Amino acid sequence: MSLEQNLKSVLSVIDHSKSRSAFDGEIKLIAVSKFQSINKIKELYALGHRRFGENYLQELEEKSEKLPDDIEWHFIGAIQSKKIKKIVGRVDYIHSVESIKHLEKIESVCIEQNLTQNVLLQVNIAQEESKSGFSVGKIGEVIRFANELKATTVVGLMAMPPLVGNAEANREYFKLMSALLTQCRTFYRSPERMIELSMGTSSDFSVAIEEGATFVRVGSELMGPRDSSNEGQQEDN
Ligand SMILES: *Cc1c(COP(=O)(O)O)cnc(C)c1O
Repeated sequence: MSLEQNLKSVLSVIDHSKSRSAFDGEIKLIAVSKFQSINKIKELYALGHRRFGENYLQELEEKSEKLPDDIEWHFIGAIQSKKIKKIVGRVDYIHSVESIKHLEKIESVCIEQNLTQNVLLQVNIAQEESKSGFSVGKIGEVIRFANELKATTVVGLMAMPPLVGNAEANREYFKLMSALLTQCRTFYRSPERMIELSMGTSSDFSVAIEEGATFVRVGSELMGPRDSSNEGQQEDN
């Protein structure tokens, strides 16, 4: 399959799933480009796609410097506090905030550099030991903390539920995320901005959309298999 065919097919699945959801806004496709070549990103860019997601700071820096400025970058990888200074301002959205310490650091970098930053809170919705993210029970406290921040806006929630062969198996988690967002909006300082649900990957984005996803993060289904010789080698980014 060519990238053009992949893009068409993913967009048509998005359209179809959207027609079965209650949401009538735009479903935003993030092409997850970790371990994908710059040439593939350029090819998607030439097809009109502008929204890309990266997991590692170094890879993001290398790519964004060589690619056009009108790409909307999303940081979706595990965050190390010491890297926050370089992530803030380089991406339009940080999806993977998983501690109050991250929020504090993002805010202080923003104030220092006179920037603003959109973030999402990662929720460990299936309570998996191996996954990071806030527990559902902790989210209220985090939103209250975020209410005091001036430069950092929590625009929504993100989840990475179990990798499953059968997408239906994650439907209950997507539903829980949707309910959680509704609840969080009732006491966030800017509910009109807290509207994003980042959920759904290659294996389950159609079900995620049916349950209210506004950002879907699709990697292999869109860009093909990742260069596995790079996988796992960038853990320290
Ligand atoms: C890699 C990655 C994806 C994309 O996964 P695919 O299965 O290739 O679609 C989505 N979200 C996060 C956080 C990822 O790390």
